Amino acid sequence: MNSPTPSTSAAAGGATPRKFQNFIAGKWCDSVTGETYENHSPANWKDIIGTFPRSNEEDVDRAVKAARKAFKTWRLVPAADRGNIFQRMGDLMVKHKEDIAREMTREMGKVLKETMGDTQEAIDTAYYAFGESRRLFGHTVPSELPNKNCMTFRMPIGVAGLITPWNFPSAIPAWKSFPALLCGNTVVFKPASDTPATAVRLVELLLEAGVPPDAVNIIHGSGRKVGIPLIEHPEVDLISFTGSSEVGRDISSRAGARLKRVSLELGGKNPQIVLDDGNLDLALEAALWGAFGTTGQRCTATSRLIIQAGVHDKLVDMLKNATNKLRCGDGLDPKTDVGPLVNEAQRDTVESYVKIGLDEGAKLVCGGERDTSPQCANGWFYRPTVFAGVTPEMRIAKEEIFGPVLSVLKVKDFDEAIAVANNVDYGLSSSIFTQDVNRAFRAMRDIEAGITYINGATIGAECHMPFGGVKDTGNGHREGGWTVYEFFSEIKTIYVDFSGTLQKAQIDNY
Ligand code: NAD
Repeated sequence: MNSPTPSTSAAAGGATPRKFQNFIAGKWCDSVTGETYENHSPANWKDIIGTFPRSNEEDVDRAVKAARKAFKTWRLVPAADRGNIFQRMGDLMVKHKEDIAREMTREMGKVLKETMGDTQEAIDTAYYAFGESRRLFGHTVPSELPNKNCMTFRMPIGVAGLITPWNFPSAIPAWKSFPALLCGNTVVFKPASDTPATAVRLVELLLEAGVPPDAVNIIHGSGRKVGIPLIEHPEVDLISFTGSSEVGRDISSRAGARLKRVSLELGGKNPQIVLDDGNLDLALEAALWGAFGTTGQRCTATSRLIIQAGVHDKLVDMLKNATNKLRCGDGLDPKTDVGPLVNEAQRDTVESYVKIGLDEGAKLVCGGERDTSPQCANGWFYRPTVFAGVTPEMRIAKEEIFGPVLSVLKVKDFDEAIAVANNVDYGLSSSIFTQDVNRAFRAMRDIEAGITYINGATIGAECHMPFGGVKDTGNGHREGGWTVYEFFSEIKTIYVDFSGTLQKAQIDNY
């Protein structure tokens, strides 16, 4: 969480910070532990966002029991009525869009333009849920026997445990909670400890939109004290998790041992390929946006730029000039291009990877240090960094850094570009810049990733399209679009026999 170093905590001052609470069984309440933590703005440690409960398994148990009880009635509400709530939710979020975005920038650092986008994604997801409420289709299929019909319905499953990261504080919780509720499940939500205030705002608006109080619960606290008890609770039927691959593995084994349905959206090491015939101006813009947007803290961030030899030197030069012009600072300042890292640990990780890159023999093109400008004095800032001369086996080419560090790899041709792109354990997003339609289609087929952009950055998911990855990026589920409704509902198969006889399939008809 965004806590300052001890030497700076004394500087925190001003108005009394807001005291935030859990929302359990229809009431805002403290944790049974009575313990709290402070969350500070990563752009300015002196700015305290608020105090939040440090909850434990007893809080989880209360919330799950409330959600279980609420499921009995919520599952029977017509889907269209549930959908109307999400129309209201979208309207409310439109009304409060800028406030939500400003608080989000203050809480986690990314620039206002991006937090406005994050909020818009949640709005789009709400309206999409409203539309989907009348489209929870099943199938009707002829039977193999006479006077008999077959059909399927989509059924609610039960209590959904939702565990989210901090980098999309509105969009990711919306991607999970809206379809979960729309499908008739009830929710226990554990947000990331770095972005609990945005999560509270979302729950407040869900309640205002008309979600019954017991049907949505929020519990603040750590992965260990809240996340694990939520996964292991016998009355939680499904888990939707977004976060690191390391934690995803742990969750998968705990949920697997209990035969729970679990959706995992995990890390990435996303390549942008630029071929000799690619539009270099667009490729540059995409690389800057992809690598340094959200300070590189996106699962879809461009962390590898794979450039064909003919345009390599020119593009690296263009990249150096443009990157050096990026201004770090508070995301609420319109002059800022790149906000801070979310917390001290994240900046330490970035620093350690820069050292690893140097030790591995990569060439530092620009960045590689903390930003010491006056506007960065009290935050977790790091200069956008580019390494060239990176080879596919280097750690900075293979491991997720989750910060503003871009590794450039030079390749001789298209085939080598694809091979290098695939030489990682992850497979979330990818992109290629080329004017050659044949190579574009081969890339769509051959890049090992859940998402491929042609002549676009590796980022820019739209809420009505499936989102997720292959390899260590997940376990085969997709968020977003129609696919997430499949995760949050169970198929029930029905046979209706109106023959007046007891017909035996596979026997009577052969
Ligand atoms: P994280 O895995 O550290 O934490 C994610 C959430 O899990 C937090 O709420 C955390 O408190 C909780 N948690 C931690 N340990 C847990 C445990 N053992 N059991 C249960 N819950 C636990 O990730 P983060 O640092 O918050 O986010 C960054 C990571 O998320 C990156 O790897 C990034 O690529 C990934 N991410 C993926 C996507 C995607 O859709 N694929 C989107 C955004 C972020």
